[in-house]
Amino acid sequence: MKVYCRQFYKIYCRHPFNTSQRVRVAQDCHTGHQGAKDLNFVMPDGKPMPLGTPVFAMESGTVAEVRRGLPPSPTSAGLPNNVVIKGSDGFYTEYAHITPGKRPNPFTPGSAMFWYYYNKPLTIGNFIKEGDLLGWVDNSGHTIGDPVIHIGRYDPGDARTLHDRPSPCNWYIHGVDAPYIDPFCDPGAYSGWAGPGGS
Ligand SMILES: [Zn+2]
Repeated sequence: MKVYCRQFYKIYCRHPFNTSQRVRVAQDCHTGHQGAKDLNFVMPDGKPMPLGTPVFAMESGTVAEVRRGLPPSPTSAGLPNNVVIKGSDGFYTEYAHITPGKRPNPFTPGSAMFWYYYNKPLTIGNFIKEGDLLGWVDNSGHTIGDPVIHIGRYDPGDARTLHDRPSPCNWYIHGVDAPYIDPFCDPGAYSGWAGPGGS
């Protein structure tokens, strides 16, 4: 069993899909894919995960960047649609190749304020809770072909220049590429979720 020290490694306690599918790292950090991991899963019939698969926040934080309006273009070198969340530790987490969703709704479903907020778009400064909907897989920008989510992690600092800073690879996702029970994560909260990843 691998044992990571939280002083040197970041562990996200959940992955970005809401599914019982086994999530895998489709492309890991390497030179040319600096500090980022692409995640996806394969359907039981062998097909890749569908476009429109919902994407949820792996941790709480504040929306720092939202890019939308770019078309599905897996062979282009263009930028993807994305959402970037600034976590409580100051680091930024990017979810790319997704169409940003609606603002998280703090009101009771069915109430007048719920419907008022229902159509508000996700915008910079919105507070996001772990598990909130961020958007949907759209295969925008340059991907490896099949739909993936590109997860990047950036050092703290000015949100306007976050992509100019290091994108470290010293992070893991509980139940995906951290194949053990992390004592900092609540295992009860993840029953029914994807098991240890890889394929
Ligand atoms: Zn990527």
